[in-house]
Amino acid sequence: MQQLLDGIVRFRREDFESHKELFKELKEQQRPHTLFIACSDSRVDPNLITGTLPGELFIIRNIANIVPPYRESGEYAGTTSAIEYAVKVLEVENIIVCGHSNCGGCAASLHSSDMLNELPHTHKWLELINPVRDTVLREMDSMEPEAWEWMMEQGNVVEQLKHLLTYPYIKEKIMSGELALSGWHYIIETGEVFIYDKDTGEFHLANEIRKNRKG
Ligand SMILES: [Zn+2]
Repeated sequence: MQQLLDGIVRFRREDFESHKELFKELKEQQRPHTLFIACSDSRVDPNLITGTLPGELFIIRNIANIVPPYRESGEYAGTTSAIEYAVKVLEVENIIVCGHSNCGGCAASLHSSDMLNELPHTHKWLELINPVRDTVLREMDSMEPEAWEWMMEQGNVVEQLKHLLTYPYIKEKIMSGELALSGWHYIIETGEVFIYDKDTGEFHLANEIRKNRKG
């Protein structure tokens, strides 16, 4: 805890001071351009990896960056309500689903971990990625174990993009060009981000895409 308290004091003295004007602008409203859906994993830092400041990303984080398919229900729907608010009220222009390497949620689903028996809510939540797991299980014999993980993590990102399209108001905004979806796979140990290309069904390194765009 001491570490966190020291951090607060340091933030106020250093980072806050150097962004004073920005915080003043943000005092009464936020206008984030992007809804960023990431895993809760402590090693994934959306602002750090995208070089963004407070006010730019509206962030949802949960285990394995999952988007429950659209449904009308009376349950307490945390992820769904944050999506609703970001798209309908904040009118974000982009939604990014960002998976990552070494994802514990994806691994637990893939290897049907015993630990999940002790975690009923996590177990239930991960049911949402069973279709992805089943696809990987069917193809895993022909692959190296490291490739299973990537296939699960990247397949999961693609699955969540599909789930986003089940939201009528998201589909509508995509059709009218007001909203764009993107799927990312962040690699912890290299800092690289691979971006899903829906035309080829493959993930390409962000640096290469950027280079090609510029060139
Ligand atoms: Zn994860």
